[in-house]
Amino acid sequence: MATVLDGRRLAAEIENRLSAVIGAHQTTVGRPPGLAVLRVGDDPASGVYVANKEKACARVGIRNLGAHLSASASPADVLDRIQRLNADPEVDGILLQLPLPPGLREGPLLAAIDPAKDADGLHTLNLGRLLKGEAGPRSCTPAGVMALLRQAEVPLEGRRAVVVGRSILVGKPMALMLQAANATVSVAHSHTRDLAALTRQAEVLVVAAGRPRMIGAEHVTPGAVVVDVGIHQLPPAPDAAPGGKAKLCGDVKAEEVEPLAAALSPVPGGVGPMTVAMLLLNTVVGWCRAHDQPHDLDAWLF
Ligand code: NDP
Repeated sequence: MATVLDGRRLAAEIENRLSAVIGAHQTTVGRPPGLAVLRVGDDPASGVYVANKEKACARVGIRNLGAHLSASASPADVLDRIQRLNADPEVDGILLQLPLPPGLREGPLLAAIDPAKDADGLHTLNLGRLLKGEAGPRSCTPAGVMALLRQAEVPLEGRRAVVVGRSILVGKPMALMLQAANATVSVAHSHTRDLAALTRQAEVLVVAAGRPRMIGAEHVTPGAVVVDVGIHQLPPAPDAAPGGKAKLCGDVKAEEVEPLAAALSPVPGGVGPMTVAMLLLNTVVGWCRAHDQPHDLDAWLF
């Protein structure tokens, strides 16, 4: 039976630590940290993600300074809003919620975010810092995976790690973080031949392919630690009550992998809550740095 890599529990622990850091410095700084989640358009999944982030801000005492622009906003409108958030002294973190509506290119807009306020760690400068092993805000999802592995005391040094997926959002920074922890890392993508032969070599397998239930028992060596980053809504069962909660699945067939793996992250409740926790962490660390305040959050900086 695999150990559960419980992201909900660890995220709650991190939130408590963040609340304590905020409580310790708020009087000196004169204001709480501020996070601006910028949403453009009405993608329904984004609506759920943004609401979750706003609720998490409220729990730890981060001010929510987000904005919602209409799907017809022009690139200049979005750019103007980003520049105003960059200049706003009350804002410590900015996140541009992806995906953007058609007609808006994410590259130039992400590049316009002040790297010091880049709560999502996706600015080119911050990705470059990760590449060079320099400090800076890290991409939230891979940092959340690293925190889960650390919490479970999964050894990485000298271990064989395989990352399935090479996106800028997840796969590439994930591989760099595992490599920085001295794992020997391979990255698989849609052109990889014989994926199962590669993933079976993994002692640590991180799956971020965005393909529902693509990783089964044949991909996993017994005793591997498996992290499932994927998240997908399953179509409702034909007999489901209308308005019921949608069922979620990951990129991993949990029922096949769970009996084999040493540890597995659940979907939901694994990487998802950790992504939000790392967003809050980046915001609080940015607030501390901007106001020259100490913190004890180094264990979660990768
Ligand atoms: P992308 O679609 O941007 O990237 C998917 C990657 O997987 C690509 O590199 C692609 O290869 C690779 N891939 C696709 N099919 C295969 C295959 N059959 N074999 C091997 N590799 C394959 O997705 P993201 O990285 O943005 O997200 C991945 C998943 O993680 C999604 O389900 C997403 O919803 C989820 N996610 C979850 C988060 C969370 O908080 N839990 C946060 C962010 C994402 P190629 O480059 O060749 O196209």
